[in-house]
Amino acid sequence: MKELSGKTAFVTGGSRGIGRAICIALAEAGADIALNYSAADDQAHDVVKHLKEKLKVKAQAYKTDISDETSVRAMIEEVEKRFGRVTILVNNAGINRDKSFVRMTRAMWDEVLGVNLNGPFNVTNALLSGMIEEGWGRVINISSMGGQTGNFGQANYTVTKGGLIAFTMTLAREVARKGVTVNAVSPGYTATDMTSGMPDAVKDQVQQMIPMGRMGEPEEIASTVAFLAGPKSSYITGQVLSVNGGMYM
Ligand code: NAP
Repeated sequence: MKELSGKTAFVTGGSRGIGRAICIALAEAGADIALNYSAADDQAHDVVKHLKEKLKVKAQAYKTDISDETSVRAMIEEVEKRFGRVTILVNNAGINRDKSFVRMTRAMWDEVLGVNLNGPFNVTNALLSGMIEEGWGRVINISSMGGQTGNFGQANYTVTKGGLIAFTMTLAREVARKGVTVNAVSPGYTATDMTSGMPDAVKDQVQQMIPMGRMGEPEEIASTVAFLAGPKSSYITGQVLSVNGGMYM
């Protein structure tokens, strides 16, 4: 038996980048995986294939915009029909729409808050009661270093990531006696599609500011999530685990 055998994890934004690596890390620990995504059909199906064929767990992809509460409810019903109770939730999906605040439109603000904050509300709201009834659960929110430090051109994004840290602490207090832990993982710069568009000169500058001198790999975020999902983290709740190469201490 692996440490997450018999458990089901729901991972938002599991088709690419950090979410993909999280699905793989949790499946390596034995969990069945329901993964959500919004557009990238081929990549989502590739992840499912890998999970089923290589890691031999139950896996299914669900295409749903997590900012839409009605669609999320319908998706979670489908997930529970197929997998039974979900006791591990990773709120990973996130987007950025960067501009300095004077140029930021209301639409850019609303879009980012819709996915990065309302999304975790919608999904957590649909899954938390089941974890409480079960007397065991893990909620892991993927925040960002920007939510701890602020970042030029990211007022919308950083407000969601700081908000997720506050959400983590409040929810942790509310469910601490119900067997459910709630923690945040806060990545620094990580090599995914989200950062691949940065100009090389900016990437070089960033790498010089990172004590370890390089960006993180998605697998380095995923292994932290797997630790928080597993039994060895049983007395950790309401915490932010920073995985950033020392960039913010
Ligand atoms: P990514 O490569 O851009 O992948 C984003 C994922 O979110 C994709 O699976 C995407 O699905 C999904 N998604 C986007 N909008 C969605 C929606 N409305 N509903 C459902 N799913 C949606 O991003 P990443 O770099 O892996 O980032 C993952 C998380 O880590 C995010 O919360 C991000 O803010 C955070 N983070 C990233 C970094 C970094 O440097 N990369 C640093 C700190 C924090 P599709 O594939 O279908 O589009």
